[in-house]
Amino acid sequence: STKTRFAPSPTGLMHLGNARTALFSALFGDRFLLRIEDTDKERSRSEFVEELIADLRWLGVNWDEGPKNAEPDERYFQSCRGAIYQRYYEQLEQQGRAYYCFCSPRELEISRKIQLSSGQPPRYTGKCSHLTAAEVKRKFDEGLRPTLRFRVPKNETVEFEDLVRGPQKFATDDIGDFIIRRADGSAAFFFCNAIDDALMGVTHVLRGEDHLANTPRQMLVLSALGLPIPQYAHISLILGNDGAPLSKRNGSRSLKQLREEGYFPSALLNMLARLGHHYDSDELMDFKALKANFDLSRLGKSPARFDIVHLDHWQQMVVRSADDETLRGWLRKETAAIVPNEHLAAFIEIVRSNCVFPDQADRWARILFTDELQLDPDAAETAAQAGESYYLSAIDAANAAQGEFDVFMRELKARTGVKGKALFMPLRAALTGRLDGPELGTIYRLLDPHRLHRRLAEFTY
Ligand code: GLU
Repeated sequence: STKTRFAPSPTGLMHLGNARTALFSALFGDRFLLRIEDTDKERSRSEFVEELIADLRWLGVNWDEGPKNAEPDERYFQSCRGAIYQRYYEQLEQQGRAYYCFCSPRELEISRKIQLSSGQPPRYTGKCSHLTAAEVKRKFDEGLRPTLRFRVPKNETVEFEDLVRGPQKFATDDIGDFIIRRADGSAAFFFCNAIDDALMGVTHVLRGEDHLANTPRQMLVLSALGLPIPQYAHISLILGNDGAPLSKRNGSRSLKQLREEGYFPSALLNMLARLGHHYDSDELMDFKALKANFDLSRLGKSPARFDIVHLDHWQQMVVRSADDETLRGWLRKETAAIVPNEHLAAFIEIVRSNCVFPDQADRWARILFTDELQLDPDAAETAAQAGESYYLSAIDAANAAQGEFDVFMRELKARTGVKGKALFMPLRAALTGRLDGPELGTIYRLLDPHRLHRRLAEFTY
């Protein structure tokens, strides 16, 4: 049985990239764990833990193990697990696999520059690895606070089978001794991330491709400690449709923002599940179906492309298939307040077939049930072309029809002598201010007769 995890650092809002990592992990694992990686005290914030939990719940990605709220505890918050990590630091020190490093950030920066300028990849020189016990003591006595580094073995290779990218091979000589505990005593990512995967029984790590080069380091730590090593699947990055990394510019936004714009979680779920993973079906699927058909071998190796158009496509599918109650709940409060009770059912119908976002629904509610009307430029042009005589005929036709739409259209046709688009487009233009939208018959029936009359009269002088 498999166990996966999502291990976010609560340093910002959840975006499409980490939402997809969480989703893929939840879709793959028999059990799914949420762990909060908040050892970076400067940047981690409890508000972000709250937002993360809210985002995941909203999206419908639920965890079998993990925090229920932002209250830190030793089981799932790394900031509370210092005592656990300490045992493993001590074990590594006893094994001679870790050593104190007193190099200052400045010294490290200088040696990095020297290496770079001579064309070498920057890597820790191993300066402090040779310190004697007496030298270490003297530095401590001077008040220096060291980091702890992992001693990387010489002349070995680390190999593993990445479940997405295939066989991987790294030479340890290319890996410098890396920091596993910061000078302030907090655990460094390479260390606590790997230890916790082992201690929490994680069998499969699904994470972004950007972590691929970290994996050999983490495997070295785990094998030095005799802890189990999970299998790794490094998921391709997401690019925007412009080929650039995701950003506001190519349409990426936080989940919070998408939720506030009125996107349905199932739209996002269906889009994300197909971002770099192939499903045979183009139909809307619920979480259970997405999970049943999820397959690591269907993850692509090349970067996935995000296009907001795809998200909007799924959003439209969700709106079209939503039931009345769902759509009523989706409307903004102020929209619902505009729609008269007796017209609510008809309005929901309009929303279902014409709208994709709550603000579009709001616009239609205002068009149909208030005096707010804005004329689009193309509607204005259509109305101008139809001319005054058309609208005079329309007023006569409306008077004759007494609310019967079929009669109204027949009368209008007879009086104007036009048919097809020339017959109904000017009507749309005057009644709604635009040339697209719900069926004319529906508009005619929903508009208050006085309002209808006034809108036609706008175009007579
Ligand atoms: N906290 C890490 C991150 O947010 C987790 C990386 C991983 O999944 O191993 O990038």
